[in-house]
Amino acid sequence: MNINTTLQRVACLRRSSTTLTAALLVCASCLCGTSVWAADATSDSAAATEATSPAAESPRILVLATGGTIAGTTDPRSAIGYNSGNVKGQELVRAVPGIEKLASINSEQISNVGSQDMNDEIWFRLARRIQEAFDRNEADGIVITHGTDTMEETAFFLQNVVRSEKPVVLVGSMRPGGSTSADGPGNLYEAVEVAASPKSRGRGVMVVMNDQIHAPRWITKTNTTAVQTFASPNAGVIGYVDPASIRFVAPAPAPALASTRDVLGLPTNGHLPRVEIVYAHSNMDGAQIDHAIADGAKGIVLAGEGDGDASKEALAALDRAAKKGIVVVRSTRVMSGFVNRNVEVEDDKRGFVVSFDLNPQKARLLTQLLVANGITNPGKVQQAFSGTF
Ligand code: ASP
Repeated sequence: MNINTTLQRVACLRRSSTTLTAALLVCASCLCGTSVWAADATSDSAAATEATSPAAESPRILVLATGGTIAGTTDPRSAIGYNSGNVKGQELVRAVPGIEKLASINSEQISNVGSQDMNDEIWFRLARRIQEAFDRNEADGIVITHGTDTMEETAFFLQNVVRSEKPVVLVGSMRPGGSTSADGPGNLYEAVEVAASPKSRGRGVMVVMNDQIHAPRWITKTNTTAVQTFASPNAGVIGYVDPASIRFVAPAPAPALASTRDVLGLPTNGHLPRVEIVYAHSNMDGAQIDHAIADGAKGIVLAGEGDGDASKEALAALDRAAKKGIVVVRSTRVMSGFVNRNVEVEDDKRGFVVSFDLNPQKARLLTQLLVANGITNPGKVQQAFSGTF
């Protein structure tokens, strides 16, 4: 298979003029507090770690591979069609020339799926392995290779459940390996660069794609196929990776905030509670919402029109849900802007919560995590949605 040759050629072109020396991370012993679920951390995963030309005294980066198009292969003669999650993380790293100069890199395979198949089981494994690696001081930064479809959800999930000042960087690609102008190698190089940089300390979880650095709260996928698909419409990028430097353009959270931030615990039964997203549209009745209630949803997120609106019938169905103690969150199907309380919908009277800037998929996740932690009171849930995660 000539995938490596193709990947190497692309990455060589991309990086031929780059001279990078990653600075040492010497604060490796500064461990943060143990999170509520760290006791469940698996201990055998380190055994499956594969090393790539470890350079002495370099920052230690752990690559956790989960699959996605970045691990996909295609026949370059075919214009369409590929399998995501074919190539192992170790091979991905090996195919990027010069990456070994940035850091001492170990790779582990967490899963090998298209991110449309990302699920609680893989998420929990991933989160636990990250916390374990940081708590045991096995790595100075972590890079997660991931499909782009649900990357924003995994990033947001991890931001809420992992505690460390060390960076966690998610990366993917829009074109599979072997395709003309594959974007995976360059993205992976930059992700390692960001994870290895002392500038990234205290910034938590980030996404690096296409020379840009995004924060989990703001990032969303905006185009089905374009390489420049990710954007952070409400806040903009937090930084750039250019051939000369990593440039953060947004301040890092205060160090005290980053290290003492509350994390939400993971349920011991291995599953997040059921929370449904209901998509609003014209001529909407309450049927979808009533089905969600009947199916035992613990929360319902409305992907509302405009400022989180929906028809009278849909709102009446949401009232029925709220009266049963189901958490009702109004989000929006619109790409940007904030959903505001009590503008066209009387949230106080109805016991609803608004998602502010969180899109429906992230609002669902936060609701799941809150319900899993016993937080269902609308006032408390609203407070969590207002918080900085
Ligand atoms: N379906 C793929 C995935 O999310 C798409 C991608 O990675 O770009 O895994």
